[in-house]
Amino acid sequence: MSYAVSVKNLHVSYYGNEAVRNVSFTIEKKNLVGIIGPNGAGKSTLLKSLLGLIPKDKGEVQLLGKNIQEVRKQIAYVPQRSNIDWDFPITVIDTVLLGTYPALGLLRRPRKKEKEWAYECLKKVGMESFSKRQIGELSGGQQQRVFIARALAQKAEMFFLDEPFVGIDVTSEEMIVTLLKELRDKGKTVLVVHHDLSKATSYFNELILINKELVGCGAVEEIFRPELMTKAYKSQFPMFQEIGVSV
Ligand code: ADP
Ligand code: MG
Repeated sequence: MSYAVSVKNLHVSYYGNEAVRNVSFTIEKKNLVGIIGPNGAGKSTLLKSLLGLIPKDKGEVQLLGKNIQEVRKQIAYVPQRSNIDWDFPITVIDTVLLGTYPALGLLRRPRKKEKEWAYECLKKVGMESFSKRQIGELSGGQQQRVFIARALAQKAEMFFLDEPFVGIDVTSEEMIVTLLKELRDKGKTVLVVHHDLSKATSYFNELILINKELVGCGAVEEIFRPELMTKAYKSQFPMFQEIGVSV
């Protein structure tokens, strides 16, 4: 059986500065995984590098036992909200329809079947009554729900999300977490970059803890322990060194 994610000795740098150093881990399928670590720890860099969106210096990455190029259609990615141009003129339903394009191929236009499916996905995030609205008119939480609907429309095997809960309301956050747990329970693999430690144990069943290097990867109970958390966070919060982290 192949792993959902397999990473060996991964190094990634920007202009000669290492952001991810010698990271190795494996993730099995059917897991909801939090990628945690302090600011600037390389969480987004790791995610983008797994997706082949930025070049790696060295190392091997396999998704679903294959190179990213071979499985791209099976991977849905929800980038950080701050990296999206919200002034781009596109309606909610068309944003979700974009999720059906990988399966359609570039030259085919979506038809009734795809439009109905996109609408179904909007319903799953409670946004069907907004289908004709411009994406830029929505609140942060509503925009994020539309992006989750687009990811669902893709019928992917794996879902990668970067800080999906930043700048959104509590109702949207709870709805998204519930959906991600459902996807996991159906056998999908979900990786989420996340910085709010207070929710880490209730949202995820596995954690990848990094601070440039890998500090730990495994079940939440194994990773969310004072020794490992202190190791990862001490550079950001020196007081952790003396008192340890209460978990
Ligand atoms: P995190 O997501 O954990 O906050 P990042 O992966 O965004 O961390 O960044 C890791 C390190 O790489 C940081 O020191 C950051 O300043 C640097 N970095 C990130 N993106 C770029 C970029 N496009 N160009 C140069 N340096 C970058
Ligand atoms: Mg980040």
